[in-house]
Amino acid sequence: MSITDNYRRLREEIPDNVTIVLAGKKRSPHEIVEAIEAGARDIGQNYVQECSAMRKALGARAEDVTWHMIGHLQTNKINKALRELDVIQTVDSLEKAIAIDQRVEAAGKTVIPVYIEINIGNEDSKMGINPDEHEPFEDYMERLVVEMSDLVHLKIAGLMTMGPRFGNPEDTRPYFARTKNIFDKLQTLTLPNVDMQYLSMGMTNSYRIAIEEGSNMVRIGTAVFGERACQWVE
Ligand SMILES: *Cc1c(COP(=O)(O)O)cnc(C)c1O
Repeated sequence: MSITDNYRRLREEIPDNVTIVLAGKKRSPHEIVEAIEAGARDIGQNYVQECSAMRKALGARAEDVTWHMIGHLQTNKINKALRELDVIQTVDSLEKAIAIDQRVEAAGKTVIPVYIEINIGNEDSKMGINPDEHEPFEDYMERLVVEMSDLVHLKIAGLMTMGPRFGNPEDTRPYFARTKNIFDKLQTLTLPNVDMQYLSMGMTNSYRIAIEEGSNMVRIGTAVFGERACQWVE
C-alpha cells in the first residue's frame, strides 16, 4: 500500500472530529510530500532541527501544514522551536511553560498554542508529567493550568500523552480513560489563555482504543509511512 492509500484509508476510518497528526520522524521530504498531497495537514516532528530541515526541503508547501512539536523540547531549543513550529505538544512543567512564554515575542509571534504532556503510565522511559509525583494528580493539574493561565503568550489548548505500549493495546485503555477524565475536568475551567480543545493520544497500535476513550487527535507514523527504515537527518 502506498502512503497515499494508507492516509486516505485512515482518514476515512477515523471520525471527522479527530485530527490526524502524522508523525514525521526520520521520513524523507518525498514521503512527507506524498502525505500532504493525499490530504495531510498536520505533521508532528520530534526534533526542532529535523523540522527545520524538512520545512526547508518542502519550500512553499511547508506553509500548507501545521507543524506540531511532539518530541521532548529542551530549553535551549525553545527559540528555534518557536520559529519552526506552530504547536508545542510537549510542555512538561510550569518552568518550561514560563521559558516558552518569555521567548514568544522575540520569535515574532504573539501567541503559541501549547499542550501539556502527561506521562500517564509513570514510565521512566517517557517524558511528561508523572502523576505519581503529584497525587492527587487531578488537583495538581488544575493548579498547574491556573498558574499557566497567567502566561499571556501561551494558549493552553490541550493535553498530550503517549500511554504505555503493550502487546495488547487493550491494556492501554485505562490509561487513556484516566487522561480523558483529567481533560474533561480541565475543560470545565474558565480561565484566560486556556481553551482545552485537544486531547492528543493514540498512535498506530492504539489509536482505535484512544478514540473510543475520547481522543480527538491521534499521532500516527507507521500506519501511514510503514516501518521506519530511512534515516534522512541525523
Ligand atoms: C513516533 C511517534 C508517534 C507515532 O508512532 P507510530 O507508532 O509510528 O504511529 C506518536 N507520537 C510520538 C510522540 C512519536 O514520537
